[in-house]
Amino acid sequence: MGFFDLFTQKIGIDLGTSNTLVYVSNKGIIVNEPSVVAVNNGSNEVCAVGENAKAMLDRTPKTISAIRPLQNGVIADFEITRAMIKYFINKALNKKRFIKSNVVICVPVGVTSIERRAVEEVALDSGARKVKLVEEPMAAAIGAGLPVDEPVGNMIIDIGGGTTEIAIISLGGIVESDSLRIAGDDMDVNIKDYIKLKYKMEIGLVTAEKIKMILGNASKEYYLEKNLAKNFKETDSDGESIKSKNDYIKETEIRGRDIVSGLPLHMTVTSDEIRESIMETVNSIVNAIKRVLERTPPELSADIYANGIYLTGGGALLKGLDIYIEKETGLKVYIAESPLQCVALGAGKICEDM
Ligand code: ADP
Ligand code: MG
Repeated sequence: MGFFDLFTQKIGIDLGTSNTLVYVSNKGIIVNEPSVVAVNNGSNEVCAVGENAKAMLDRTPKTISAIRPLQNGVIADFEITRAMIKYFINKALNKKRFIKSNVVICVPVGVTSIERRAVEEVALDSGARKVKLVEEPMAAAIGAGLPVDEPVGNMIIDIGGGTTEIAIISLGGIVESDSLRIAGDDMDVNIKDYIKLKYKMEIGLVTAEKIKMILGNASKEYYLEKNLAKNFKETDSDGESIKSKNDYIKETEIRGRDIVSGLPLHMTVTSDEIRESIMETVNSIVNAIKRVLERTPPELSADIYANGIYLTGGGALLKGLDIYIEKETGLKVYIAESPLQCVALGAGKICEDM
């Protein structure tokens, strides 16, 4: 290690549309917060970032906007993204500004060279000395522990908030891929629209997302005892299930506003209804998976037939999605361990090896 290395931190950033995670070398994931920034409309001043700003989404007075600066995986608002990255890097490095950092930052496979430049510039401007851009599915696959450098086909599907990345990886490179701008956020919109149409009730997207996490599912079979038992295998030290109790819940009460009377209203929705509402989005993702499989060279197809598909990203937590994809493709589907952290862990591994 050279003298200057003492002053250089290596960090890996998963700049997601929903969540930003920062991995600091030798420490692990230090920051894990929503990619949201609250801005004062008059002065353009940033008033909150991350967790604090997300609490404001859909609840802000007219003077404040809570913004998600990354939309569909690309930077929609350059200034605000810069403020957000700066804030998270400072938080991760404990505000030791004198430390220059070598940064690995992940971008969706589909981004244009202009979009790549924008990410690079933001990172450099936020105090990075060197920036390396890595394709998200590659980082996800590394974070999921797949043997990406071996001459064998690995299939990874990362479903985030704004983008779904599908990739076949072999010998350290992406052989075939697709990047859809359809993902978890679209399911939230589906749920909101469904409830509006069926019950004449207006709900916010934050509520829609909560409903998705409790009741969202892609397959009725998920709720069969044997599948629930499979999902409840993991237990913590006390032998308690660490999976959420949500797994057993089949209906929930929701609150919103009656679009006719304008008054607050509550009612009960079921897991069957929520599945019905999101299936269009789920099927768009499944169809894209099938198209990528069709384009995959036969030797790699054979590997994927043997080794299965790996799911990462928050969308991997949608109940029964693995079961549905298995049914539709005939391939074995695995949910990576800690799906929400795979990209950051992969970026971390890449930055450690830099
Ligand atoms: P990004 O990489 O775009 O920041 P993430 O990988 O962090 O996205 O995943 C966020 C998405 O995952 C959001 O749409 C969120 O609603 C969804 N999500 C998180 N947990 C669950 C869950 N238990 N069930 C369904 N969707 C989930
Ligand atoms: Mg992501």
